[in-house]
Amino acid sequence: MTDELIARAVEILRRGGLVAFPTETVYGLGADAENELAVRRIFAVKGRPATHPLIVHLPGAPALGAWASRVPEEAQALAKAFWPGPLTLVLPRTGRASDAVTGGQETVALRVPAHPLALELLHAFGGGLAAPSANRFGGVSPTTAGHVRADLGDEVDLILDGGPCAVGVESTIVDLASEEPAILRPGGVPREELERVLRRPLPVRGAGAVRVPGTRESHYAPRAGLVVAPLAELARRARALAAQGKRVAVMSPSRGELPGTIAHFQVPADPAGFARALYATLREIDQAGFEVIVAPEPPPEGVGLAVRDRLARASAPRRLY
Ligand code: AMP
Ligand code: MG
Repeated sequence: MTDELIARAVEILRRGGLVAFPTETVYGLGADAENELAVRRIFAVKGRPATHPLIVHLPGAPALGAWASRVPEEAQALAKAFWPGPLTLVLPRTGRASDAVTGGQETVALRVPAHPLALELLHAFGGGLAAPSANRFGGVSPTTAGHVRADLGDEVDLILDGGPCAVGVESTIVDLASEEPAILRPGGVPREELERVLRRPLPVRGAGAVRVPGTRESHYAPRAGLVVAPLAELARRARALAAQGKRVAVMSPSRGELPGTIAHFQVPADPAGFARALYATLREIDQAGFEVIVAPEPPPEGVGLAVRDRLARASAPRRLY
């Protein structure tokens, strides 16, 4: 059954079609990374600006050399320690990585995902798959095949169902093409673990860095408004919003002092559990038609840093494209 599905997926990809597939982070919208028309279709289906480059997924670390013109020792060490896994390496590109994939940059983002179905697909396909999250640009990422179907439906040629994603937030992106390595986006591999392998501090730069309030671009956003507050303040903030007549939902580990009149959606207390449940819970609350979501800010350690980053961007002022 799976073999047949994989064979069908490979056939679709070779024809330049789109296949959504599970990874351990979120579901990806995959296309042959070397087929420019197929890659352009990803941008069209997602409504994603062409300047946002895509991550190329590889079957294994040996494929690195075909896509990266220079693989520094630190890249090799990180690949060895964390691949397959939720880590993306940005390296100088070879000619294989087209402008369509890199957004015209001289660097390419590469990752080997840890989901068995994704690896099976990549091995059977035998090349790189460009795959951003399988949802409309700016919205909440999909962590189940049902989420992909709800967002993209018929616009995808095939959706492979590999169950709910184990990590639940996107990969950590590390820039190893610049002089000073840095984290461009916090994600599934904690900063502390990267620093342990590199034996030096790894700053968070660019997209993941703290910027002046109001200039942060909205992304990963639910339809409902999102208010992020320290755990101890959730009940007060929720009560104040409810008093203004808003339909409020609180997502947190426990109801605490929340009045029975305010809806509560439970998420695990540990950061990894919170990360795993984050997107599915935001979608569930949206579906139920609430106007405002109140969520706790986890400590900036481990995968908590990625959850903080996603909540901050999901709660940033929305810009209409
Ligand atoms: P997504 O696939 O939607 O999770 O997003 C991919 C992320 O990778 C985006 O934040 C991109 O900006 C980033 N990315 C992809 N390629 C590069 C690159 N060559 N340099 C820097 N960031 C990149
Ligand atoms: Mg995305």
